[in-house]
Amino acid sequence: MHPYAPTLMGAALVGGLGWTLAEYLLHRFLMHSMRGRGLPSREHLTHHARRDYFASAGQKALFSVVVTAIMVPVAVWLIGLPHALALQGGFIATYLFYEWLHRRAHTHPPRGPYGRWLRLHHFHHHFGRPLENHGVTTPFWDAVFGTRVDPPRPIRVPRRMAMRWLLTPDGELDPAFAADYVLVGRGPVGAAVVVTPAADALDLTAAFANVPPAE
Ligand SMILES: [Zn+2]
Ligand SMILES: [Zn+2]
Repeated sequence: MHPYAPTLMGAALVGGLGWTLAEYLLHRFLMHSMRGRGLPSREHLTHHARRDYFASAGQKALFSVVVTAIMVPVAVWLIGLPHALALQGGFIATYLFYEWLHRRAHTHPPRGPYGRWLRLHHFHHHFGRPLENHGVTTPFWDAVFGTRVDPPRPIRVPRRMAMRWLLTPDGELDPAFAADYVLVGRGPVGAAVVVTPAADALDLTAAFANVPPAE
């Protein structure tokens, strides 16, 4: 084994754990606390307001480049090039894993206990308490900073915002998820949800004020 191997793996692990802290801090302070000031906040709060809205891959790539350009020189100065690259590799890999997990939470049903937990934790953030449960991959930093809440079950999901995987082809709640979620509110019944411009404006106003969406 290369004499550096254990410490390189340690640096990658620290980078990965560092991402989970960044995930919490960015989501809480850069996105929610800013209430729409700045691009990351506007993009994220629009994601709260509109069921199928995700920031573009280009914006995420730009974010990765900017963060790397800031982190790597500092890390090289502190721990040298090989360990800085391992640290950054762990950070970026965990970031990409988070992006995949978060997207899948919105687009695909859970497949095991972790996926089920992650969705309950995150959709309570979306539909119940937007200023709590900021972590997506882990509740650890929410627990550290006092923003972790156990989601009540079932989670009340406004019909127009219901994740597609939650619905049967005719737009009703899939009974497989009845213990965890309930659809609330009027609004279009059926797979093709049409949100009027007026309803969209109300949803954006609520999201940008960090209040849960109206039922
Ligand atoms: Zn989300
Ligand atoms: Zn959020």
